[in-house]
Amino acid sequence: MTNKDLLKIAEEFGTPVYVYDAESIKEQYEKLTSSFSKKTRFFYAAKSLTNINILKYVKSIGANLDCVSINEVKLGLKAGFEPKQVLFTPNCVDITEIEEAMKLGVHINIDNISILEQFGNKYGDSYPIFVRINPHIFAGGNYKISTGHIDSKFGISIHQLRHIERIMQSTNINVEGLHMHTGSEIKDADVFLQGLEIMLDLSVHFPNLKYLDMGSGFKVPYQDDDIETDVDQLGKKVTKALTAFAKETGKNFELWFEPGKFLVSKSGHFLVKANVIKHTTATTFVGVNSGFNHLIRPMFYDAYHKIENLSHPNGPERIYTVVGNICETDTFAWDRKLNEVKEGDILVFRNAGAYGFEMSSNFNSRLKPAEVLFINGKAHLIRKRDEFEDLLKNQIEVL
Ligand SMILES: *Cc1c(COP(=O)(O)O)cnc(C)c1O
Repeated sequence: MTNKDLLKIAEEFGTPVYVYDAESIKEQYEKLTSSFSKKTRFFYAAKSLTNINILKYVKSIGANLDCVSINEVKLGLKAGFEPKQVLFTPNCVDITEIEEAMKLGVHINIDNISILEQFGNKYGDSYPIFVRINPHIFAGGNYKISTGHIDSKFGISIHQLRHIERIMQSTNINVEGLHMHTGSEIKDADVFLQGLEIMLDLSVHFPNLKYLDMGSGFKVPYQDDDIETDVDQLGKKVTKALTAFAKETGKNFELWFEPGKFLVSKSGHFLVKANVIKHTTATTFVGVNSGFNHLIRPMFYDAYHKIENLSHPNGPERIYTVVGNICETDTFAWDRKLNEVKEGDILVFRNAGAYGFEMSSNFNSRLKPAEVLFINGKAHLIRKRDEFEDLLKNQIEVL
């Protein structure tokens, strides 16, 4: 997909619009599958981008699905995933949501002692489950996206192993998998290996274990000098560790990963229009027809998204602060060099596939953007832009 294709899409479907390039998702997926052993399975983390067409597409290229809510599970099944291709990894849900997932026949991952006990008491060994472990590894680019640290609400602490064992003994609960997900954007691949070693050490306590799920944390480059997780290197190291373990113990576990960002971040291009160029005494602002209600990552995580001027890619470079139209601090980028921006120009935010549309809202009573899938050289509208009526949907007028 070229910049010309993007400009055409902006013209045809208007802005703001999220555009996803199917080819890029496939390339990323193949990077993973070619780096790990054939037995390794990849569960696309649905929460990064749940448009039903994206779910169908990742299924068509061979991925499985990781879901964090029962509705993601239902979306996945609707998209055609078999129940056994779906893993449900919720946090802080009650037993009824777990039971709903059980009825749907998906793999279930339990992440606290309370539910583990309730589930074991009720169902014993009749439905195998995963246990989410918190290994207390500090990883991830940012405190808000790091999930494995000591204060994290995720997982059952490795120090509670004895408690898990007691529940297994007293309820017969059947643990078929161990899971950990230590955070997003792990820079150092050795963190995964450290995690794997912990899982392998733990595995001897779980006689029915078949699966080791390493979660995600695969990093993608947002800036030019950023790195992408070297999955090829990682694949080699992980295979080596697993082979050594198998030799020593005779145990062969199936390895799972749950990439979200790695699969879809790069595929996404968010197109906006420059509404206003505003010179103040200190700064030149580009005010665009969007805001953190459409792409919250810069305001929420201090995330960096590359921005380019698609309409005038060859103009002289100038320094801008790119802001949105929300009535609150709403800055996409500070002091950013862009080819001179004129009012009406189309700008693109790169790497907008993951946690872009997915975290959008109607704040300020603004409408959510449209979504377009570019596949086999053609652009398809896969979500209509919100309309005014959508703002009133579900509201009940009593006055
Ligand atoms: C969010 C999440 C992922 C995906 O993380 P990425 O950084 O997008 O790859 C995987 N597994 C679980 C349990 C998650 O909550």
